[in-house]
Amino acid sequence: MELDVEDIIAKIIKNDKLDDGIKSSGESSYAAAGENGVFKTVDDAVKAAKIAQNKYFHTSLKMRKKIVKAIRDELLPEVEEIARRGYEETNMGNLNDKIEKNRLAITNTPGLEDLKVSSQVITGDNGMTLYELCPYGVIGAITPSTNPTETIINNTIGMLAAGNAIYFSPHPGAKESSIWLIKKLNKIVSKASGIENLVVMIESPSIQAAQEMMTHPDINLLVVTGGPGVVGQAMRSGKKVLGAGAGNPPVLVDETAEIEKAAQDIVNGAAFDNNLPCIAEKNIVVVNEVADKLLENLKKNAAFVVSDVADVKKLTELTVTEKQTPNKKYVGKSAEKILNDAGVAYTGNPRLILIEADQNSPFAKIEMLMPVVPFIRVKDFAAALDTCLTLEHGLHHTAIMHSQNVSRLNKAAKEMQTSIFVKNGPSYAGIGFGGEGPTTYTIATPTGEGTTSAKNFARVRRCVLTSGFSIR
Ligand code: NAD
Repeated sequence: MELDVEDIIAKIIKNDKLDDGIKSSGESSYAAAGENGVFKTVDDAVKAAKIAQNKYFHTSLKMRKKIVKAIRDELLPEVEEIARRGYEETNMGNLNDKIEKNRLAITNTPGLEDLKVSSQVITGDNGMTLYELCPYGVIGAITPSTNPTETIINNTIGMLAAGNAIYFSPHPGAKESSIWLIKKLNKIVSKASGIENLVVMIESPSIQAAQEMMTHPDINLLVVTGGPGVVGQAMRSGKKVLGAGAGNPPVLVDETAEIEKAAQDIVNGAAFDNNLPCIAEKNIVVVNEVADKLLENLKKNAAFVVSDVADVKKLTELTVTEKQTPNKKYVGKSAEKILNDAGVAYTGNPRLILIEADQNSPFAKIEMLMPVVPFIRVKDFAAALDTCLTLEHGLHHTAIMHSQNVSRLNKAAKEMQTSIFVKNGPSYAGIGFGGEGPTTYTIATPTGEGTTSAKNFARVRRCVLTSGFSIR
């Protein structure tokens, strides 16, 4: 049997682990405390991940590639099972869309190729200076209930490609599907590399445990995907944070837009996974001249329009709390479930509920995360852009626009200052689904990295040789 270098390294690491003469007593107790990466305490999990990362760091880039490939190859045949588990546990979203979101995470998250872009060499009379992207160590990754398995897969590929180990802190509401996935990832990684505990979590994730992790001395970087509360909490930890927070994406439609296509794209984007994605269209802002035409076309794409005041009241009472937050019971639920529970009569099989409203409606101001979206008419493009800026609340997360006027597209893209701006497509084109570019489920707007990938999970190091290595 032929062994390649990676197999030999894997064997050496495995033996090292089995040989008590080599490993320290501390190492054995951390490893013993966990099962396939799932530990009882934060401290045990982080320390086991630290040991694993040290081993991983001393392997090779080829090993990293091998691990990333193994994750893709072994998760893809199980994509339906992965999506089903997240869907059934959280009871949010839409199974078919979750399958596509997970498939995208598995196949379109960049691996090591992402690290090349920022490596740089400078040569001259004084020798050579090299900048390279190197691991942080152990990353503490906090993941949301809205994309539970998708974010774990996406973060794992990018963070392992950059040479790190990962401690995951999933939403307690997605605990079981996360534990199942972390164990699976550990088996895949350990089979490929001989290293266990590169991806860890604890058996009972909680907010308190997440906060303990945030201040653990062996966590070198925090990558936080969630609402404003958790991003703020992480920023107070004193550690370096990549914060991927909330959005309230508006879609602007002007009179030059291709209305039939715009309507189709808007329903597809806003109804995708029942509007759970942070990038999904959450407000429709349209200029008067084409508003009726757009509404007719939205209806043709299975949007149900609610304009009766009593029906709007019923929907508001059902889905918006007194504190002006979304009623969690309806986050990620289907349009039909929401209409049924509100007692609003409808026909057909609506995918999206549209509410004729203005910018003061709670549906416009609040990030609802459900397929209930306001339809807001304005007099012209300038008013539309103003309204979109107001409704985005300065979060600078995502905006979408349908127009054939290039200078207006440019103006809106520049003024909105969002991490993602999609022109003439559904919102999800901005994360590589039907649009060019890689996929991410961690869009770090408050801290400025935008659509994150392996290069953001690595630190830049400068290495200087004072003589030679210039051949000019
Ligand atoms: P959430 O903020 O309730 O929870 C997110 C994660 O943070 C969970 O793991 C939760 O356990 C943890 N958490 C919450 N409060 C915490 C605290 N005070 N201390 C420590 N940990 C805490 O969000 P959610 O409902 O799971 O997800 C939806 C939110 O996430 C939306 O606001 C959405 O816009 C946002 N989101 C953003 C992105 C992005 O890339 N920018 C992606 C997905 C979701």
